[in-house]
Amino acid sequence: MKHIDAARIEQLLQKHSKTDNAKVDAVLDKARSLQRLTLEETAVLLAADDAQNTEKIMEAAAYVKDAIYGKRVVLFAPLYISNACVNNCRYCGFKCENRSVDRRSLTPEEIKEQVSWLLNRGHKRILMVAGEALNFDGKKAIDYYCDSVQAIYDAQAGKNRIKRVNVNAAPLSVEEFKQLKGIGIGTYQVFQETYHDETYRYMHPSGPKSDPDNRINAIDRAFAAGIDDVGIGVLYGLYDYKFETLAMLMHCEHLENKFNVGPHTISVPRIEPVAGSDVSENVPHPLTDEDFMRLVAILRLSVPYTGIILSTRETPEMRDILVHHGVSQISAESRVSPGGYDDEETEEGIQFTLGDHRTQDEIIGSLLEQGYLPSFCAACYRKERTGERFMSLAKPGAIKGMCQVNALVTLKEYLDDFASDSVKQAGYKLINKQINSLTGTDREILRDMFKHIDDGVRDEYV
Ligand code: SAM
Ligand code: SF4
Repeated sequence: MKHIDAARIEQLLQKHSKTDNAKVDAVLDKARSLQRLTLEETAVLLAADDAQNTEKIMEAAAYVKDAIYGKRVVLFAPLYISNACVNNCRYCGFKCENRSVDRRSLTPEEIKEQVSWLLNRGHKRILMVAGEALNFDGKKAIDYYCDSVQAIYDAQAGKNRIKRVNVNAAPLSVEEFKQLKGIGIGTYQVFQETYHDETYRYMHPSGPKSDPDNRINAIDRAFAAGIDDVGIGVLYGLYDYKFETLAMLMHCEHLENKFNVGPHTISVPRIEPVAGSDVSENVPHPLTDEDFMRLVAILRLSVPYTGIILSTRETPEMRDILVHHGVSQISAESRVSPGGYDDEETEEGIQFTLGDHRTQDEIIGSLLEQGYLPSFCAACYRKERTGERFMSLAKPGAIKGMCQVNALVTLKEYLDDFASDSVKQAGYKLINKQINSLTGTDREILRDMFKHIDDGVRDEYV
């Protein structure tokens, strides 16, 4: 597979197959100084899977998470616009051989209805998701994606609109990526699923996705088209998690070397069962909860400035733990079928089974209870603080104060417009506490912005 030196990964895993406590401590010391780790250092941590070292790794990850992101957790909702698909990925409910699924591609009007439902629950950030097809109901794929992104931005509920649309869709050409950038997307995500060549070919037996190089190169093409916020990921469970984690970090290194900036986000989906999947009953490399937590913590230490995304595939308990040890973005109240946002949740036509069925308000209530600051901010993207520019501000901590102000503003908007009474109470308590941690100037800025919210202004940011 392009950009992945499998022999080197095997060599590193072999070299560090035994735990070395002194080396683990040295790597953790480096990680605590918020420096990015090398592949070899990451391999040292991956080997350290005994209880004592696991605890140290989890603690260090919590430290790094807090030092860089503070208490902020960004919330978003996925929006499945189509389950039409020409691929046959063995693990997915949408694979073309699964005849039990009714295929549906939402029209712009249907998309606007779905988005209104989400806006009325306080959502501001959407991840648009689709299967892969040449045409969707007769429309060329790229035109269908662009019209759908536009429909999401056009949807309105009162004064509320979606601020940022990220896209998770099949690889495109440079020209098509330029069109997608032109319509104003945030992050473009595509998961390699597995970086192990043989496993990749087995899991993707037919369709355009069967070519691993076309998929891994999609990220390079997105950069070439000017999209500098990209997201990558592994579908954990397909192959050995240690190999996958080092390979994904090798992919990051390739991007850093070629484009001066790595991925904006890393996603860590684990295979979930679903009707029609070949692997529901028999996940090839199942990952225990303990190993999963440890690997997310190791990713946090290895690439401290890269966002880590956790979806509602995971249970509330797992999400609560991982928000503490590294995850910076979570989805909330997700539905994973086109047209799924409705007052009744259904399992029909879903891509995979969900682990967290809580409402947005319940998730926000739980985050607040644990002292986290739920954020709907999209200011960096809207102020063009993306790619290399974002990293150059994020690394010296120059945007930390701004982020805090923006997050508090979006929280107050949520509380005033959508929250239940108990969440409102908990939210204001947290706001009052957080105000004290701001510098004098930031506090002044925040006070002005809060006053504007009380006067009816929405969507102000710095
Ligand atoms: N169809 C496009 C593709 O495959 O790139 C984009 C969207 S696909 C609907 C989004 C992601 O869902 C896939 O990249 C895969 O990692 C994940 N996925 C598919 N089946 C899954 C399952 N059974 N459990 C968990 N995640 C799954
Ligand atoms: Fe299609 Fe994506 Fe599912 Fe594969 S993972 S079958 S490409 S929707």
